[in-house]
Amino acid sequence: MASLPRYELPPLPYSYNALEPYIIEEIMKLHHQKHHNTYVVGANAALEKLEKYLKGEVESLDVRAVLRDYSFNYAGHIMHTIFWPNMAPPGKGGGKPGGALADAIDKSFGSFDSFKKLFSQVAKTVEGVGWAFLGVDPLSGSLVVGQIEKHNVLMTAGLVPILVIDVWEHAYYLQYKNDRASYVENWWNVVNWDDVAKRYEKAVGGSKPLYIP
Ligand code: MN
Repeated sequence: MASLPRYELPPLPYSYNALEPYIIEEIMKLHHQKHHNTYVVGANAALEKLEKYLKGEVESLDVRAVLRDYSFNYAGHIMHTIFWPNMAPPGKGGGKPGGALADAIDKSFGSFDSFKKLFSQVAKTVEGVGWAFLGVDPLSGSLVVGQIEKHNVLMTAGLVPILVIDVWEHAYYLQYKNDRASYVENWWNVVNWDDVAKRYEKAVGGSKPLYIP
């Protein structure tokens, strides 16, 4: 019997007001409870349609439309699932990374400051709605940056995101209005480098990059 996965909205690892003053409680609550939840529901709905088709409960299926929905909503779900723990209250968050992650950033981008400047540009220049991310390239094991429109458009297949910033208007408009640049600059104060370092270590944890036979 066919059984495709289902997803659940993960709890935030801190309270809704924990990222103030940089991201206000009202944004965090709506963003998590309404926006993120919509992607969870949408991904599950797409999988349910596929499952009903597999079980013969419906005779025909517009599989292309269903997979389009799945791509958008699943990507939305996974990006937010990385985004929340990528942040921590001011004091715990912010500053600079250390250890192997800091070395990898220096190796790929020259210095932390060069990385920060580039990543900020990537985030500020997303056309419309989307994301900027720092990812591990499993072919080389190196760090690269990427830009995503919506949740899934322009995503480079295979890259493993370890640090992401949401630049949809719902992530900042209630506090920053149209000033995305200030949101991006302030966001650095709540980046949880411990979480990013853990993701980096998992992504490069094997003895060889993932896609090298
Ligand atoms: Mn969002």
